[in-house]
Amino acid sequence: MEEDIAKLQVLPEVQDKARLVMEAGLKLSRQAQARATEQLRTRTEEDKAVSRAHDELNTRVYGLRSEHERLKADVARLRAESAAQDEKLSTLSTIFEQMQEDKQLWAAERELFAEEAAEAIEMVMLKADGGQIKLQELWRRQDEQFAVLKKEAKELRDEETENKIVALWDAQITRPVGEVENAASITTWTEMRTVVAHDFHIEAGIAFGNLRTFAPQHLRVRRQLRPEFSQMKVSDVPFAKGLYRSAWYCTSDSNTVCVAKKFHLEITFEKDNECALKVIYTTILAEMFARAFTAALRSAMDAAGADSEGDEDWTPWRVSYLIPSLVKDGNRVWLVEEMLPEFHRWSDNATRFVLNEEEGRVLAAFTHWSYHHSGQRLIVTDHQGFSSGTRQLRMTDPSVHLLHADFQSLVHYNDGNNEEQGRHDFEDGHTCTPWCQLLGLEHMEAPPAQDTDADNDEE
Ligand SMILES: [Zn+2]
Ligand SMILES: [Zn+2]
Repeated sequence: MEEDIAKLQVLPEVQDKARLVMEAGLKLSRQAQARATEQLRTRTEEDKAVSRAHDELNTRVYGLRSEHERLKADVARLRAESAAQDEKLSTLSTIFEQMQEDKQLWAAERELFAEEAAEAIEMVMLKADGGQIKLQELWRRQDEQFAVLKKEAKELRDEETENKIVALWDAQITRPVGEVENAASITTWTEMRTVVAHDFHIEAGIAFGNLRTFAPQHLRVRRQLRPEFSQMKVSDVPFAKGLYRSAWYCTSDSNTVCVAKKFHLEITFEKDNECALKVIYTTILAEMFARAFTAALRSAMDAAGADSEGDEDWTPWRVSYLIPSLVKDGNRVWLVEEMLPEFHRWSDNATRFVLNEEEGRVLAAFTHWSYHHSGQRLIVTDHQGFSSGTRQLRMTDPSVHLLHADFQSLVHYNDGNNEEQGRHDFEDGHTCTPWCQLLGLEHMEAPPAQDTDADNDEE
């Protein structure tokens, strides 16, 4: 600036003034420059701040954008997930519905299966029971056939009808009845198959006072194996034939000759076994009454004997039954009894008695006694067996007419149980003997013969 002033070549005062002006200008210029610089600086700072703010905003925007994107992605994912869940739910719902349907189907199927199973079981049982059913049908038909014949026999009461029944049984027997007089004449014996034999014994200690309420379940019977019968042989032909059973000679291991009886029909082992047991128990029942009768008769005779003069035979009568053994020869059932030295018959099962013999009169009293002392619940009859000659009667094969439900367990079709017809025959046909009177039984007298035959109008 000094140079410039010098160049002016003006007066020093002017120069001073110029100097002053120049200095002032310079000062102003510097101030302006400083201001400009300051302004620039300030502007720069502002710019920087703005830029920073801009950057920050940018960053934030970027961040927000990123977050937005992320959120968008999340939303998309969630939507996708939700859709997937919806789909799953829909699938599950479908499955559930399917299961519900299946469940109903299963329930229906189960019901159907239960029915089918029941049918199948029934079929199996039918198959298993086929034989049984056929047999039952056979038995039923035979029972019917037999009932008709039995009814006819009762109505007609003639030998012709009984012969028809025998003929029916005959048809069932493959071997003919031989003319066998006695066991000694038998030359051919058939060996029985595997034999199992049982004896039946009445237990001791039976009270006789309660015969009016006595029933099969009160019988105390012991069943005992008989090993000595293991080698039994039976005659080739029967020696006697009744309505229901045929009688054959047989021998035990010790060669004792016995009587073996079997049912003609031989329906099945089980059926024959059942009937045989009922025959045994019926015989035991008759034996119970025979023991009580023997005791009662002895008491009555003792009491009467005290008043008698003494030359009459006053030995008490004794009545007892042969209790058959049950013998199983393979699938065949036999009733085996001791063989009696002689065989006699004093009444039939319609209680018609041989009254011109003392045995017949005693046994008629036994029949009356059994009816009275059983409380009119049974009648023991069909008296046959052996009389010892010493007033001992060894009886076999009784018919017991069962008149009360107490004895239902003994009822079977292969026997002479005539039930109410038996009562009818007895009440119409019995005439008391002196033995009835001795026993204090209420007097009975049959009407004249022509009345007993025409008795259908009475009832
Ligand atoms: Zn009598
Ligand atoms: Zn009558």
